[in-house]
Amino acid sequence: LNERIPQNGPNDEIGQLTQSINGLLSRLEQAIIREKQFTSDASHELRTPLAVLRGTLEVLIRKPRSTEEYELKIQSALQSIDRMSDIINQLLALARTESGTNMVKEEVELITLCEEIADEQAKEKGRTIRFESAVSAPIFIMCNEKSLRMILRNLLANAFKYSPQECPVRLKVGYLDGRAIVQVIDQGEGILPENLTKIFDPFFRQQSALESGKPGTGLGLAIVRKLADEGGLEVSVRSELGKGSEFTILFPRIS
Ligand code: ADP
Repeated sequence: LNERIPQNGPNDEIGQLTQSINGLLSRLEQAIIREKQFTSDASHELRTPLAVLRGTLEVLIRKPRSTEEYELKIQSALQSIDRMSDIINQLLALARTESGTNMVKEEVELITLCEEIADEQAKEKGRTIRFESAVSAPIFIMCNEKSLRMILRNLLANAFKYSPQECPVRLKVGYLDGRAIVQVIDQGEGILPENLTKIFDPFFRQQSALESGKPGTGLGLAIVRKLADEGGLEVSVRSELGKGSEFTILFPRIS
């Protein structure tokens, strides 16, 4: 794949064709490198809890222990198993986004859907969500409803996780330049400027998330990005460290 067709010919049709083929080869090479990195990262992420689990069981088998010690070690083993199943479930969710089933679009009324998700997530996580709609008339869009629900759930889950319990999270719906827009806004720890693009990469977590011991796999936003790309949605983020973050979903203009 490192090979390229020599391009010293004239700038005619053959020259242009050579250029296109070389461009395609470069893109293919990049995709293969990304895929290899992903497989190696995924294996590494699974190996860590597996090693902890093995260590715990080896300690247990070495000599008889008190009931309390057994309970503690088994608790730790269960935590490693939970961690592995979280990673596997998220990896499956990510793989499913590539199967093409998320491409089917249907008409969705955005205000009703966002209100419903806000209610459901606030109840499930015991948090307050301020729902704000800039318009009262229904906003009809064409999208894959299941994908949109997953995108919103992942963004809300992060807003809850990375902001203090007592700070409400805002869910805003409206229009921007004639396009429907949804925003998830929190008053949490924020994101470092140099991490604003990295947070969408699989397995990337900010140092603060790792150090705080907050549960997570680093796959939630990778899923958001994949689903958004597939559905033609634009997802962007603005953030200020220590003040909070604002994730925006922009929908395609309805022609
Ligand atoms: P995770 O499972 O770690 O939450 P995500 O892919 O959802 O994985 O997010 C990647 C990283 O981006 C998180 O670990 C966190 O550091 C950062 N992040 C995502 N959302 C927010 C947010 N609302 N506020 C602050 N940091 C965030």
